[in-house]
Amino acid sequence: MNQDQSFPPQQQEPPGSTEQMTPTPDHGEESYVGSEKLVGYKALVTGGDSGIGRAVAIAFAREGADVAVSYLPEEEQDATTTAQWVRAAGRQCVLLPGDLQDEATARGVAHRAAGELGGLDVLVNNAGYQMARRESIADVTTADLDRVLKTNLYALFWVTQAALEHIGDGGSIINNSSIQAFQPSTTLLDYAATKAAINNLTVNLAAELGPRGIRVNAVAPGPIWTPLQPATQTEEKITSFGADTPLGRAGQPAEVAPAFVFLASPVTASYVSGTVLGVTGGKPVF
Ligand code: NAD
Ligand code: MG
Repeated sequence: MNQDQSFPPQQQEPPGSTEQMTPTPDHGEESYVGSEKLVGYKALVTGGDSGIGRAVAIAFAREGADVAVSYLPEEEQDATTTAQWVRAAGRQCVLLPGDLQDEATARGVAHRAAGELGGLDVLVNNAGYQMARRESIADVTTADLDRVLKTNLYALFWVTQAALEHIGDGGSIINNSSIQAFQPSTTLLDYAATKAAINNLTVNLAAELGPRGIRVNAVAPGPIWTPLQPATQTEEKITSFGADTPLGRAGQPAEVAPAFVFLASPVTASYVSGTVLGVTGGKPVF
């Protein structure tokens, strides 16, 4: 695991790719050991091609789950790598390219995941978008605003609505929130607002779905080394990324995935619903 406290300067364009990152993120490829916490489960991880989503896909597979991964068509290379790791764990991996900003595509991803896996137990709403290369609300373009709100909120609603036609008693939904919901950065004010909304939605949906035996939770990561960062932050922010946390460094995707396993598994979280679990390197999530 990279314990270095600074990153070399680097920039990409969204959505970014793992191959172009220095250093390469750690998704738990060599470290994650499963212990049968999700045996026979079927999971959909949106944005599972790279970053936190890839680490979740690998961990879920090693816990015994079959995994469907959704991603943007231009991320085929990253998605293929995730699929190789899932299949190396002896589990099925279904690849579902498509832009979730489109309603029919978003709903279709959930239905295809359930159809091709033969059911659905866990939905991980992980796909997300931000743009931080700006200084003021005056710099927020309508195109950015559309992309942030559509990806982080509209798509989450559409995928969740469709997935709930398949998820039953004992299933769960896990939303990827952010430390930005609690400590917003001025450069990310639209993104931060969507993450605060996701926390609100998580609590409310847990109340609605509890009677159906479906749990709903969120994970709120701090700064994690993924393609999203070099693709959307300024170079200056990248070189010091994560240094302002109490632990003094950015986290790796491999350090976030166990929180998703914990929340998904009936072994560890059968009575956990409506909560937001911080994985922030020490920043407060309340
Ligand atoms: P990432 O770039 O590896 O993953 C984000 C994924 O979202 C992309 O791979 C892409 O497949 C998907 N996506 C984006 N727009 C999409 C669209 N229109 N249609 C379909 N898929 C789309 O980066 P990551 O950091 O692992 O991001 C995963 C989640 O973690 C996001 O929700 C992000 O907000 C959240 N998060 C990240 C950090 C961090 O520091 N990296 C911190 C807090 C929260
Ligand atoms: Mg990606």
